Amino acid sequence: MIDGKALARDLRARVAADVAALGRAPGLATVLVGDDPASAIYVANKRKLCVAAGMRDLHRQLPADVTQEELERLVEELNADDQVDGILLQLPLPRHLDSRAVIDRIDPTKDVDGLTARNAGLLAQGRTGLQPCTPAGVLLLLQEAGVPLSGSHAAVVGRSDLVGRPVAQLLLSANATVTMCHSRTRDLAAETSRADVVVAAAGVPRLLGAQHVKPGAAVIDVGIHRTDTGLCGDVDFDAVSPLAGWITPVPGGVGPMTIASLLHNTVRAAAARTEVVR
Ligand code: NAP
Repeated sequence: MIDGKALARDLRARVAADVAALGRAPGLATVLVGDDPASAIYVANKRKLCVAAGMRDLHRQLPADVTQEELERLVEELNADDQVDGILLQLPLPRHLDSRAVIDRIDPTKDVDGLTARNAGLLAQGRTGLQPCTPAGVLLLLQEAGVPLSGSHAAVVGRSDLVGRPVAQLLLSANATVTMCHSRTRDLAAETSRADVVVAAAGVPRLLGAQHVKPGAAVIDVGIHRTDTGLCGDVDFDAVSPLAGWITPVPGGVGPMTIASLLHNTVRAAAARTEVVR
């Protein structure tokens, strides 16, 4: 079992040490639009852990009926604000808003969620930029657990900008041979059951069962779903855990690493901006 909580705690401690070494408190502006309860909980956790790591919480809350122009104006304001080192736009946005257009406005040097076209492009070219938080967390989990990646076969289920695509890019950069699966994949089990590493990010509760996983494979479950019987992931944990070599639980796997990676990106962004200012 890969203990995401413990690994996230270690990363947050390293981030706090980096903040102390930086000599100033980096500022993180989380932006929450509306009152979706799940998003409110995620943002509250990010803000709490940001402060615990010695950073400044520069949260901005906007009403659900904010216009595209008002939201983009806020992003421009945060771009221009020297106190702000990182901007995190909590997704999803209410339906009337175009999230891609808002993300495109974020200064790439403050894009601590790694979602701007510039950071996505750098990642696609295997160059250094700010990497999306959940994918960066997935790679750290695999590396810290000692899962061999170079030369391995990895299957990623899901191809979103937020998770699947960047996870595949990071695995490729770690020299894995990567298969990307999605909703049109003809035989999902045939693809994933050949893989040494399976990353599940489809957003479908318990999509992957025993037939999808090779004995001894590493299984990282990014999915998170609230059901009548509690939280579950995209992997049927009870069916898969007896045969997996490594597996992440839900909760307590990828989720905590996402926030730790966000804090890591924020201190990196602050350090890079400090260099520019000096
Ligand atoms: P998304 O934007 O809905 O993308 C889902 C992807 O999965 C799409 O590429 C889709 O294929 C593919 N897919 C859907 N059904 C499939 C199926 N039956 N077989 C194979 N592929 C299928 O979701 P996301 O934002 O990437 O998030 C994925 C999951 O991760 C969600 O449960 C989300 O809540 C969770 N998540 C967790 C964290 C965390 O910190 N723990 C962070 C982010 C997301 P098409 O492209 O063909 O439509």
